[in-house]
Amino acid sequence: MYTHTLTELARALKARKISSEELTCTYLARIERFNPELNAFVTVLREPTLAEARAADARLAKGDAGALAGVPIAHKDIFCTAGVKTSCGSKMLDNFVAPYDAHIVTRLKQAGSVLLGKTNMDEFAMGSSNETSYYGPVKNPWDRTRVPGGSSGGSAAAVAARLAPAATGTDTGGSIRQPAALTGLTGIKPTYGRVSRYGMIAFASSLDQAGVITYTAEDAALLLNVIAGFDARDSTSMDRPVPDYTATLQQPLKGLRIGVPAEFFDAGLDAGVGQAVQAALSIYKKLGARVQEISLPNFSLSVPTYYVVAPAEASSNLSRFDGVRYGHRCESPVDLMDLYTRSRGEGFGAEVKRRIMTGTYVLSAGYYDAYYLKAQKTRALIRRDFLEAFRSVDLIMGPTTPTPAFKLGEKTEDPVTMYLNDIYANGVNLAGLPGLSVPMGFVDGLPVGLQIIGNYFDEARMLAAAHQYQRETDWHRHIPKGFE
Ligand code: GLN
Repeated sequence: MYTHTLTELARALKARKISSEELTCTYLARIERFNPELNAFVTVLREPTLAEARAADARLAKGDAGALAGVPIAHKDIFCTAGVKTSCGSKMLDNFVAPYDAHIVTRLKQAGSVLLGKTNMDEFAMGSSNETSYYGPVKNPWDRTRVPGGSSGGSAAAVAARLAPAATGTDTGGSIRQPAALTGLTGIKPTYGRVSRYGMIAFASSLDQAGVITYTAEDAALLLNVIAGFDARDSTSMDRPVPDYTATLQQPLKGLRIGVPAEFFDAGLDAGVGQAVQAALSIYKKLGARVQEISLPNFSLSVPTYYVVAPAEASSNLSRFDGVRYGHRCESPVDLMDLYTRSRGEGFGAEVKRRIMTGTYVLSAGYYDAYYLKAQKTRALIRRDFLEAFRSVDLIMGPTTPTPAFKLGEKTEDPVTMYLNDIYANGVNLAGLPGLSVPMGFVDGLPVGLQIIGNYFDEARMLAAAHQYQRETDWHRHIPKGFE
């Protein structure tokens, strides 16, 4: 059962070929067996999960069930789940039980899905390797000495190891696409504003966006149908109709104009990854697409711009963790300042502190113009480059990451090399565009991803392009050894 896609499972449940209870038990048993080694889940619910599964079976029997009735899924631990610990990968929130559900949690619940548990992640979603988590690193199921990517590394490892048929994620600067690529999965970060951020713990609010990690584009379309749409509780949520993303998956690709940024093929790109991109592009040509080179002249500014904007917003967002209202509180503070400094000092890990300090610095009176204001200007240039490119192409394609998964510990001592793993991802968030990663082959036995970037709200076209690629290839069907 666990080797099927989400779409296949939803169909089998509707047809009553399988029950949600047996399916859920299968996943819970696999989690029990494999999670101690992978560390993909930080919370597994078991009894409440089984109760939800039985309730779903009852609704399925009556024939009044939603699109995802009885389908088990996992949530990244950045999404608030009522009555369930929501840690965001941090000691700061190790004792936090959310009093309400995040918007996408509510939506997925309403559609009938069953919550398996909460997945591990980089602390406050800051990282590219899932090594900054308070709960320890997640292992990549393809090679347990390597990282699964981050920050949605637990979600990616869980789905890749078939411990869940799909999981949610968030992407501020690559955190859905990069782990999806490094674990052989499909991951989509929708347009900024497409999916509500309500109940999603904020990192950098102008960049954060919720999405999903799945086996196929078809699965992603099914989930996006459920989670996309207006929500008045997020002031940046867009009030635009949500198309049926599954209905347009077969839209022919003939005449599709694909732009490939010359700047993506720089010295930092692994030769094997570059070759895999070319092989993927040749499949698109076969499907009738026209591939042309384009330029994103300010591409090299995206990582430095991101590492000013994201920490600036993080330093402000994370000021709410003060030891007073919720989260970690130090023992016997002598006064208010002691309460703040010790609670924060003890509750946050090293990477989070680095971001808060960088962010505070770039926003400080003396350096605001030189850093923060400058970054806002370069952000506008980066966005303009994309808009210019979309005047002559429909989609942009390239690698999701410069290399396959790296070794655990390999980049932890040098934050800048870690940051560079998201070099192809950061610009998409700065521009607010949608981005998707699909498995496009293996390099040295490790999966690598093709990134598909769309124009604003053009998720349907991206998903159709990914779906038709997946009908021509079987990269998304490979299962890591030991997890078959
Ligand atoms: N790796 C990037 C960072 O550490 C992106 C993280 C994310 O998308 N949440 O900021």
